Amino acid sequence: MNEKCAVVGIFGHEEASKLAYFSLHAMQHRGQEAAGISSSDGKELHTIKKRGLVMRVFDEAKLKTLSGGSAIGHTRYSTAGDDSILDAQPVFARYDLGEMAIVHNGNLTNAEEVRNKLIEKGAIFQTFMDTENLIHLIATSEKDKLLGRIVDAVERIEGAFSLVFLSRKKMFAMRDRHGFRPLSLGRLPNGGYIVASETCAFDLVGAEFIRDVQPGELLIFEKDKKPKSIQVFEPTPKHCIFEYVYFARPDSNVFGQSVYQTRKNMGKELAKVQPIEADVVIPVPDGGVPSAIGYAQESGIPYEMGIMRNHYIGRTFIEPTQEMRDLKVKMKLSPMPGVIAGKRVIVIDDSIVRGTTSRRIIRMLKEAGASEVHMRVSSPPTTDPCFYGVDTPDKENLIAANMTTQEICDYIGADSLAYLCEESLLKSVNSTQDQYCTACFTGKYIV
Ligand code: SF4
Repeated sequence: MNEKCAVVGIFGHEEASKLAYFSLHAMQHRGQEAAGISSSDGKELHTIKKRGLVMRVFDEAKLKTLSGGSAIGHTRYSTAGDDSILDAQPVFARYDLGEMAIVHNGNLTNAEEVRNKLIEKGAIFQTFMDTENLIHLIATSEKDKLLGRIVDAVERIEGAFSLVFLSRKKMFAMRDRHGFRPLSLGRLPNGGYIVASETCAFDLVGAEFIRDVQPGELLIFEKDKKPKSIQVFEPTPKHCIFEYVYFARPDSNVFGQSVYQTRKNMGKELAKVQPIEADVVIPVPDGGVPSAIGYAQESGIPYEMGIMRNHYIGRTFIEPTQEMRDLKVKMKLSPMPGVIAGKRVIVIDDSIVRGTTSRRIIRMLKEAGASEVHMRVSSPPTTDPCFYGVDTPDKENLIAANMTTQEICDYIGADSLAYLCEESLLKSVNSTQDQYCTACFTGKYIV
């Protein structure tokens, strides 16, 4: 499963595009297909976007052309739309009120309906992105100010969106009424402001966390003023619980909590509800690390690094044969026989999606000499796809939608397999109300 995007907005800093660049770099894990930044110098907008990693797309010379005191940025993992450059963001447009750029994290559930209505009225689309709908809705709104047009536009869309808009003089940040995707507000050391999908971006640019943008809230940033807040929709929080399970960086705080701590809690809960006798607890890196630490602390079984991850493989062209697929996993993850050989191993991963990677990991651990391999998963079985901005395989390719836990255990070749239940997952994230979306585990869709 892949998070779709990261967004950032910088307002009130003379090197806004540089700060946007560093912020995107910190959030590169949320999308590696393309990156882009738009800046405003007060008179016009400047945009650069391209396929590739943030560090490859931008250099000093390019950042210099993105002049001005405000900037918005985006990293993309393609879901809706193909992965061509046309589908990279920010989406920029000239319209009757001037110029505008938008970045979007999420997925609109009524995008097709909105698009068809706009096409009937004569709109012409250049991309398959949901975000382009917003440009058209804003451009064709009858309100006379951009603020009114943004409100008009977001009232017509449904689904998951964390949005940042940039005009020549202002910046706007908005979250959907359920707050599916995260968006936080911070203060820059010079007194300017930052909004970003994850707070790990704040740490890199020295920003101080102020608060999360509330579900349904629109923030307006204007020169020499404090951000103004308008609650466009009544907030009904349904935050994506998978941000805690897998997507967000462990050093981020999302939805008001430390990601690292919630992941550790998941490991502790897993040890309580799914115990097993073993000699060593190892994580599947990097996602399984905090949960494995939690599992080891709770169970008293020693924690070890039994699998090393190579971070430098990038994209590889590999023939799709069985042998070559195994080699691809080995290029990324290698076992440490000195830790595993002759041992009863508990291996912790954050999720099992198709089951193919787990199968290869378990085979690899057994070939490295593990006497038993018990797989423990720090989330419930992933049974349903996501429609709120996360790239998930179709239901027929989700192994837990088609097999029982015992059948999955047999398929992946583990000596035992157990998952964290929904109740324990909610406990791990300190859920006191019904404030999380868990649809990919339950099939209970809110929108
Ligand atoms: S369906 Fe799953 S991945 Fe999608 S928003 Fe809900 S919890 Fe997150």
